[in-house]
Amino acid sequence: MKIAILGTGIVGRTLANGFSQAGHDVLMGTRDVTETLARKEGDAMGNPPFPEWQREHPEIQLATFAEAASTGEVVINATSGTGSLDALAAAGSALENKVLVDVANPLDFSHGMPPTLSVANTDSLAEQIQQRFQGAKVVKALNTMNARLMINPSSLSEDHDVFLAGDDDAAKETVRHLLHELGWKDGNIVDVGGIQAARGLEMYLPLWLNLMGKLGTPDFNIKIVKATS
Ligand code: NAP
Repeated sequence: MKIAILGTGIVGRTLANGFSQAGHDVLMGTRDVTETLARKEGDAMGNPPFPEWQREHPEIQLATFAEAASTGEVVINATSGTGSLDALAAAGSALENKVLVDVANPLDFSHGMPPTLSVANTDSLAEQIQQRFQGAKVVKALNTMNARLMINPSSLSEDHDVFLAGDDDAAKETVRHLLHELGWKDGNIVDVGGIQAARGLEMYLPLWLNLMGKLGTPDFNIKIVKATS
């Protein structure tokens, strides 16, 4: 399958690598290809600049958001939450009828740490994306964990869960299938409902950030345990 990954940060890179290794044809998207390929500085988290990463992944090419989205059968939004609507607007009509996996979190770092949510309670970034791009089939997924776990769930010693939220059941099935390919077991893929359920998935982020500080690692996840009777 042709998969477009909008976003050149650690999430875009990790998912590009995971889907490429699963045999998919991956094209990444960025705002300005020339500028991104000229980057020499890594990010604040110690990730290398994009060209350094791409030298080790020559099979993964870079295009504009619009070019990548127009080739992808499935499009993944791995852009900064506050830039996602602009990034997707650049892709525009290329999103029509596509499964759009939204991995972004609406974190606002403009007031320092910890970040706040730029949208919450009665709305979510995923709903705003679905509302703005009505022809796309938005599925919120993978936003509740560190990038490394997204493509390597078995790196934790116990089973743990990934959530799906979206209004289109067939789109959620497509994402479920893609998650299987990344190593997720069916019983650990939890459908939490329609796109409105993305509110809870995004509002989990303050707790996730707090846990990361307390546990001293981003490599953890949660699991739903239901009473048997
Ligand atoms: P990031 O630094 O949050 O985002 C980088 C991407 O966002 C780049 O592709 C950048 O475009 C694009 N971008 C930034 N501002 C933009 C704007 N104003 N307009 C259009 N595009 C813009 O990278 P990340 O850490 O990989 O995270 C990606 C998303 O996944 C975020 O929403 C994050 O909250 C979420 N997430 C992250 C993790 C994690 O482990 N880091 C886990 C779960 C979810 P260029 O390529 O042009 O620079």
